[in-house]
Amino acid sequence: MSIFTGSGPTRTTHFIDGAWTEPVGPTFPVLNPLNDELVADAAAGTAADMQAAIDAAAAAFPAWANLAPGARQQLFLRAADIVDRRHDELVALMAVEGGASRAFSSFQIRLSSAMLRQAAGWGYLPAGDVLQSDAPGRTAMVTRKPLGVVAGFTPWNGAFYLAWRTFLLPMAFGNTTVIKPSELAPISAGLIHAEILHEAGFPPGTFNVVTNAPGDAASVAEVFFESPAVRCINFTGSDKTARILGERAGRALKRMVLELGGFNPVLVLDDADIEESIKAVTFGAFLHQGQVCMNSRKVYVHRSVHDEFVARLADRVRALKVGDPTDPSVIIGPLITDSAVEQIDERVRDAIDRGATLVTGGRAEGRIYHPTILTNVPSDAICTTGADETFGPLLVIEAFDDLDTALRDAQSTPYGLSASIMTRDRARGFDIAQRFDAGIVHVNAPTMASEAALPVGGVKDSGWGRSGHYAVEDFTEVRLTTMSSH
Ligand code: ADP
Repeated sequence: MSIFTGSGPTRTTHFIDGAWTEPVGPTFPVLNPLNDELVADAAAGTAADMQAAIDAAAAAFPAWANLAPGARQQLFLRAADIVDRRHDELVALMAVEGGASRAFSSFQIRLSSAMLRQAAGWGYLPAGDVLQSDAPGRTAMVTRKPLGVVAGFTPWNGAFYLAWRTFLLPMAFGNTTVIKPSELAPISAGLIHAEILHEAGFPPGTFNVVTNAPGDAASVAEVFFESPAVRCINFTGSDKTARILGERAGRALKRMVLELGGFNPVLVLDDADIEESIKAVTFGAFLHQGQVCMNSRKVYVHRSVHDEFVARLADRVRALKVGDPTDPSVIIGPLITDSAVEQIDERVRDAIDRGATLVTGGRAEGRIYHPTILTNVPSDAICTTGADETFGPLLVIEAFDDLDTALRDAQSTPYGLSASIMTRDRARGFDIAQRFDAGIVHVNAPTMASEAALPVGGVKDSGWGRSGHYAVEDFTEVRLTTMSSH
């Protein structure tokens, strides 16, 4: 039986060495962000639990690393089928644990099973070279080897998909994993994955999940840094936490892979298809209530089309249904916590106080914040500087006259994750794309990632590392072997 049945709260435990641990010890509550109903009592893990998980992952590593890629492939394909089969149950889980709409959950599920099917082939990718040597009779061979145990932190926001990334990228290349899910959504950020990987037949110890109470994150995660078996810290979350963990990783000399926040500007040029731009911006800015690292926070619109764009976008955004995400027609569910609501509301008030125009939204009902558009936002308002990530349904729109100025402003933030350019002139779009300092630039598409096979990741404060098969660089090491005649 599944750990999430959808009928009343569940008691979850850790998954270590191929089995659920006993339900002993303290728990912490996991609450539905819409109404604070109890979704789960989750095990409040300790450093000793984490150490047990790392030991299991270390013991499983040699056999997993040496398993034939074809054998690993079968397991990933089986897991993909299970994800697809359990679609409706996963949608129900993500709604009550994370406030995700059916549209967003289905999107994550489709991306996840697609990534599992992609990952099934990645085991064949680590390849090498035979190099020339100056030494007579010497052969020099370069191969790629998995790192060992990769410790992962998963977030609550795109929890289901992002946790798959955290398991799959290292595991596909022969590493074993220990995951510390977000305290706010531990089932959709790791525990349900353990259940699926186990059902698919992955060997014990190849994946492990230890949950922790909110106040214990630092002490439980400390074991990652102290353990010699852990060779890489794979973190998805805020740049604020990444800085703390990065300092710790520096002292421990651990490799880090970081997927952090973004500002994700959109440029709508004078020749853009307005209807397509509106669709792209609505999806890009308001998917999951603006709580995804790739949501667009600001749109720069050429002054000649600005007023029409704002009016038509506002009509579309007002039509987004807000409410309980278990209703499949709802697009905008609750924000994750009270402090998330406060952050957005404070930023909206700050901008209005400084003279911004509220086009639509700007109010909360409980934790549901109505999707909000601001124009005429002064350059010193917090939400428009992008210096500190805004994480909710708040979009700033600015008119521009000069493309170079807009382009410079659009990337004057510390982030460099994603950007979009809307134009009918694809050559011009391509040209501008080359001038963006970002990990991902789209021409005529939303700033969100929508394909599992493509490399996603940022530059600047948005992080290091890439998903997709490019992750072979992050999760393997180059090994030089030389052979001489004597
Ligand atoms: P988000 O705001 O997206 O939840 P955070 O960066 O706050 O992102 O948290 C992401 C993960 O980092 C969570 O698993 C959380 O438990 C963990 N975390 C937060 N602070 C610390 C810390 N000081 N030490 C170790 N882990 C932490």
